[in-house]
Amino acid sequence: MPPESTKIDKIVSLCKRRGYIFPSSEIYGGLSSSWDYGPLGVELKRNVREAWWHSTVTARQDVVGLDAAILMHPKVWEASGHISGFQDPLVDCKKCKRRFKADGPEVKDRKDCPECGGDLTDARMFNLMFSTEMGVIEGETSTVYLRPETAQGIFVNYVTVQKTARLKLPFGIAQIGKAFRNEITPGNFIFRTREFEQMELEYFVKPSDADRHFEPWVQERYNWYLKLGISPDRLRLRPHGESELAHYASACTDIEYEFPFGWSELEGIANRGDYDLLKHQESSGKDLTYFDDQEKRRYLPHVIEPSAGVDRSVLTFLADAYDEEEGDEIRVVLRLHPALAPIKVAIFPLVKKDGMPERAREIETVLRPAMAVFYDAGGAIGRRYRRQDEAGTPFCVTVDGQTTDDDTVTLRDRDSMKQERIHTKELLPVIQERISAWKRPGE
Ligand code: ATP
Repeated sequence: MPPESTKIDKIVSLCKRRGYIFPSSEIYGGLSSSWDYGPLGVELKRNVREAWWHSTVTARQDVVGLDAAILMHPKVWEASGHISGFQDPLVDCKKCKRRFKADGPEVKDRKDCPECGGDLTDARMFNLMFSTEMGVIEGETSTVYLRPETAQGIFVNYVTVQKTARLKLPFGIAQIGKAFRNEITPGNFIFRTREFEQMELEYFVKPSDADRHFEPWVQERYNWYLKLGISPDRLRLRPHGESELAHYASACTDIEYEFPFGWSELEGIANRGDYDLLKHQESSGKDLTYFDDQEKRRYLPHVIEPSAGVDRSVLTFLADAYDEEEGDEIRVVLRLHPALAPIKVAIFPLVKKDGMPERAREIETVLRPAMAVFYDAGGAIGRRYRRQDEAGTPFCVTVDGQTTDDDTVTLRDRDSMKQERIHTKELLPVIQERISAWKRPGE
């Protein structure tokens, strides 16, 4: 394994080399902290979203989905407290003019600017929301905000969703979508960016039940990462202390991952009480209470909120899967869980003659309806295996001279590099079985 200090650079470089993730607008020199997902990255990201959606929505009876607009009524952000309170203290370096978060790790406990040694200005507050003008006629436009979180889209729609889907407490509304924050110090690749994606669930419960729903959600979310292959020794729960809790939250636990740059938040699970619904009820003047037909009374539900980042999860899965094996040359391999791997199986004709490409294409046709398949006829077979190791592809199938005689192929395993001969008829069920039975190497 590479030392942790160089690991993030290696991941960034692999992502670029293999078309996972690269700087945005690169032909113009890139845009600070903006990243684009290429062919493999977009599949990995879809698989992460899909795994979250499946476990949070599809596999449960008590959660439904929502896709709210990014641009919302500005009053939403007034009521939620984002206009007055969503701000970070900012300091400027008088010498190099760079900006830092006053409570960020670069500045905390230091008087000088860490980059150039210049003096820092006093801290002033800086709102993290992006604003833009809506409308086309000058003087008649209004300021709207790009949402800094997806959660508010759920709160303002909760009554409509509850009524139309005829939901009874406890129930959840889940949403995946883009969020925007004008972060003062973005960085560490896709860990902190100004445009990112969130996967959020608001789980509405009877007020007196809120405490007992909190821990199960923490465990559920923690286990989700483990089931998708994250090393248990790099994942931990960190309950917030009293002083750290937002004033409206009665409990909050972060799921933290040990990134190459240290332990950091991957997801937060909070018991938000009725804070958000109360604020929107006061501000909109609309009744947002729920009628409990057992107790024959109305009340505002309380809310448990697991809030995760798609991009931060992608980085976690990449960092955890990245491995280097010493040998004649270093083998770089992404040991992604097969459910997340962008390509499940690569198919190679050993050489481009003797009917091998045709037979390989036939096999591709059989496998493609069931899983993401990649056909590659170019270059030495060893090189093709290495490319797939870097792409995180769990299985490779090679058609060779023997295939014409007995209809067997070589099935090669990414993690063990073991190769075995297998009849083409068994290929699909065997690969499917191994995908579902996959375990982290060494487990
Ligand atoms: P941080 O302390 O890292 O700024 P936060 O506590 O402000 O995060 P939340 O508001 O709780 O984050 O957002 C929930 C999740 O959304 C985070 O756990 C993270 O996965 C993701 N997230 C938040 N901000 C960003 C960002 N700028 N870039 C990428 N992901 C983010």
